[in-house]
Amino acid sequence: MQEIDVVIVGAGAAGLMCAAQAGYRGRKVVVLDHAKKAGKKILMSGGGRCNFTNRTVSKDHYVCSNPHFIISALKRFDQNDFIEQVERHAIPFHEREWGQLFCNDSSKAIVEMLLTECEWAQAKVHTGTSIKSVKKLEDGRFQVVTSGDGYVCQSVVIASGGLSFANAGATGFGYDIARQFGLNLIATDAALVPFTLKPKDLERFKPLSGIAIEARIHCNGRAFRENVLFTHRGFSGPAVLQVSNYWKPGQSIEIDLFPHIDLNEWLQEQRQNRPRAELRNILGETLTKRLAQTLCQWWQCDQPIGQFSESELKAVATKFQRWLLVPAGTEGYRTAEVTRGGVDTNELSSKTMESKKVPGLYFVGEVMDVTGWLGGYNFQWAWASGFAAGQFV
Ligand SMILES: Cc1cc2nc3c(=O)[nH]c(=O)nc-3n(C[C@H](O)[C@H](O)[C@H](O)COP(=O)(O)OP(=O)(O)OC[C@H]3O[C@@H](n4cnc5c(N)ncnc54)[C@H](O)[C@@H]3O)c2cc1C
Repeated sequence: MQEIDVVIVGAGAAGLMCAAQAGYRGRKVVVLDHAKKAGKKILMSGGGRCNFTNRTVSKDHYVCSNPHFIISALKRFDQNDFIEQVERHAIPFHEREWGQLFCNDSSKAIVEMLLTECEWAQAKVHTGTSIKSVKKLEDGRFQVVTSGDGYVCQSVVIASGGLSFANAGATGFGYDIARQFGLNLIATDAALVPFTLKPKDLERFKPLSGIAIEARIHCNGRAFRENVLFTHRGFSGPAVLQVSNYWKPGQSIEIDLFPHIDLNEWLQEQRQNRPRAELRNILGETLTKRLAQTLCQWWQCDQPIGQFSESELKAVATKFQRWLLVPAGTEGYRTAEVTRGGVDTNELSSKTMESKKVPGLYFVGEVMDVTGWLGGYNFQWAWASGFAAGQFV
């Protein structure tokens, strides 16, 4: 058994950030990961270009049972602190819509930056190492038994992430440790994930697979106006992924297919101007022909616009702007970008990320009940929470 100050489980975004920070404080740190490579999710993120943070970050960009918990860490290491680090390592990046920041070249640069920081801070990173057990000793320290060396340490940081993408090394390890030490867990579920459709809806919409349109989707008091993509399983695209953070099984979502206009007003004008035009062709100018035709046939409004009365046309407009749909479910952890729920933040100090019940045990990153929107927010939480714990472990 080696005596050491800090063992961090998980060489992902939060674990590597925490390791470098603790190392710079002179702590003797080792990061353990069962995967062969560090930072696998960083490598696959943002389509290989890692959307590493966002120009605007606040607690409102997160889902958490206790939203005030996240404010302190986000303030102490904010997006500009991370941008400064990226600039210091001369990693070229660019901004896309909604303030999202991406690497110009490859996500690999972010992993290399984190590993370089760990090296500078003399924090060791051991990949290909499985954790067999974590025990609290009578003297208050922890014993960590692994497939390689064993450790006795003062602090254990759980940075093992969520359940999505098992093929990138995801496991329920962090939740098991939380249970072992008697910490409360908020129920987990796949989030930032595409919706699947019920058989009848799927039959209707599957032929539209590949069509993308801008729409506004509402669910549980939240609305996102971005692209929606029809897929061979259901719906995807940024608007759908965003709203999936708020959706609960069995609930409906409301889709506005014309988020930029008052459709009723516009259709009444069209009725005056071109009464002989088919409604589906008029709507198809915005929705694509195939989508307009499918919906007009399904909602039995496939006729020339002049044949609708004013009130009938109003009812049609409502259908297209307040389409209520109940998804069958989601594609689950296989394709979800993140896991919603996790270690209850009420169990942790918002300043240090340390367990209130078990001194010396810390949780950082996605394993906690903090889920960000699409747009770099999940990484920003990993950096901020890893940084916070790194000052205290
Ligand atoms: C396809 C995809 C794309 C994404 N794109 C973005 C994006 O562009 N921007 C963004 O902000 N977020 C993105 N995310 C989310 C983001 O990757 C995660 O929220 C973030 O990586 C969480 O950091 P973490 O350090 O908590 O966990 P992770 O980065 O997942 O790291 C956890 C580490 O723990 C290790 N581990 C797990 N179990 C064990 C165990 N039992 N023993 C030892 N080690 C273990 C894993 O191998 C892994 O290395 C994306 C996610 C996916 C899946």
